[in-house]
Amino acid sequence: MSQRISILPEILTNKIAAGEVVERPASVIKELIENSIDAGATDISVEIRAGGRRRIIVTDNGHGMSREDALLSLERHATSKIQVEGDLDEILTLGFRGEALPSIASVSRFSLATREHGSLEGTEIVVEGGRVRDVRICGMITGTVVTVDQIFFNLPARHKFMKSAETETGHVADVISRLAVSRPDIAFNCTSDDRELLRLQRSDLQRRLAQVVGRECFQHLYPVNVKGDYTAITGYVSGPALVRSGTQSIYTYINGRFVRDKVVQHALMQAYRGVIDRGRYPVVALFIELPLGEVDVNVHPTKHEVRFRRQSVVHDAIQDAVTSVLKSSPWIPSPIAVTNIADKSISKPYFDRIAVAAQSSLALQQKPLYRSHPEHKIVMTPIEPSAAPELPTLVREPALAFQAELPDPESHGYFSALSIIGQFHSEYILCQSDTDMVIIDQHAASERVAYEQLKQQIRAGGIESQRLLFPETIELTFSEVAVAERFNSDLAGIGFELEQFGGTTIMVSAVPRLVAMKEPLTLVRDILADLERIGTSSAMNDAVESLLSSIACHSVIRGAHPLEQRQIKELLCRMDRTDFAASCPHGRPVMHVLTLSELEKIFKRK
Ligand code: ADP
Ligand code: MG
Repeated sequence: MSQRISILPEILTNKIAAGEVVERPASVIKELIENSIDAGATDISVEIRAGGRRRIIVTDNGHGMSREDALLSLERHATSKIQVEGDLDEILTLGFRGEALPSIASVSRFSLATREHGSLEGTEIVVEGGRVRDVRICGMITGTVVTVDQIFFNLPARHKFMKSAETETGHVADVISRLAVSRPDIAFNCTSDDRELLRLQRSDLQRRLAQVVGRECFQHLYPVNVKGDYTAITGYVSGPALVRSGTQSIYTYINGRFVRDKVVQHALMQAYRGVIDRGRYPVVALFIELPLGEVDVNVHPTKHEVRFRRQSVVHDAIQDAVTSVLKSSPWIPSPIAVTNIADKSISKPYFDRIAVAAQSSLALQQKPLYRSHPEHKIVMTPIEPSAAPELPTLVREPALAFQAELPDPESHGYFSALSIIGQFHSEYILCQSDTDMVIIDQHAASERVAYEQLKQQIRAGGIESQRLLFPETIELTFSEVAVAERFNSDLAGIGFELEQFGGTTIMVSAVPRLVAMKEPLTLVRDILADLERIGTSSAMNDAVESLLSSIACHSVIRGAHPLEQRQIKELLCRMDRTDFAASCPHGRPVMHVLTLSELEKIFKRK
């Protein structure tokens, strides 16, 4: 009888575990900072050399460890964070596997120096490739310092996979940023080859997020704060003026742990549909709190993926929370503020003259020529004297002229309160709001208004469907067939008629009229695939919304189209009654604001 199987020596099992936990310098730093956070640190600093390939030092002012604990912490599966199996369901700390320190120590030249609060001295343990070389007393303040030199020095295969110092530095900055956004109450510093990479003082979430993604972002962040029975969702989300080309500035956390999860991401992007362009991504820091038993964080060693017990409930809660913020278009000044400003501006002659000029719809052909008074910076003067009202008239009756532009007492919104200057190129509407020039894309605006109306119609009735002359069949996967069955009546509501044809084939006998001439089968496939992937009714809404936005786009006037003052007013009033008025269903902006000071910069008055 031969014996083929043997238990591996611990040094080797640690190295194997390191393969999962320690992918690159940034993953070492993530584990070490998480330990520092779990140890209650309020100040964490990181030092790297050559992107962390040569050296990583993480220093914290947490509670530190006794000599015994320090030695134990380097044993595999040694942790202070859980004790019995039941604890796995209630993990409140970032770590719990007890794998990080021994894994890191097995693939580097490692030292752990730590001093517990109340103890007279610290302990330093030196480990090389998993073997303890020295344990000595050291002098230090309370806290822990972990030094990791020459990571993967004994794993040539892994060593080769590390990227350039610059790339690794980028990953390190990403990891620290994610942790830093989750804990604005902790100060973080990082130097890279002695140069400062990050310096983040203790702060609040809005400031911390802006520190990480760019200070100019601060003013474009809006708070989310929705606490339900099952979930609590808090944080900040950006408006349409602040977008990114990728997901790099989306920070989402489940119970305080950074996740990059497809369900969370999908919910978020659903909420942003129609607010920002496709292919653009918002700046977000969102904290999703769930009952501990509802989410399994023990899915992946690096814990970036999670598993939800009730996936669709979480999905819809996130989407609703973010939608509730975006729906109110918080980036548009509140109507009350606008009215006040407008009242005040009655006393400003330059405003009055512009208002008069606006009535003539000729303001577009006018340009600022001179400074009338140091306080009143721009005066609009006609350059086409024949067609324009004369300047003396404007000066003589300013208050009266302004009255003609006062907002309709019936309408209280931002848009209806704007003074209309006129139309530009038969495509844009120009308005004034105090010292702002507001430019509105008339096509995008009417499209948005039409889209919202259609949405109301669908709530009341349904979408027109068209029977196919020759019903078509499509082959699906088993799970897609199941999805088609489950959502059959929803699909019928938007005009699709699908029937089981046997096996995994379904027959499509009717489609929404609008898409009948396009590629309805591709649409069916896309919808089913989405429904299957996300498994919530919001994928259905998604399909409905994309249909509606294409109907809306075709239903309104395109290209140049002269509008009468009355029509412009009507459109502005309707925009006030529309959610998300600041962008069209395709996510293109509906309006742009040019401030007086921006204009002054253009004309070098500042
Ligand atoms: P885990 O974090 O999963 O418990 P680790 O291997 O990362 O496993 O750490 C093992 C143990 O060492 C922790 O449970 C903790 O008790 C202790 N420890 C690690 N880092 C620190 C630190 N910076 N400060 C205090 N204690 C620490
Ligand atoms: Mg840990």
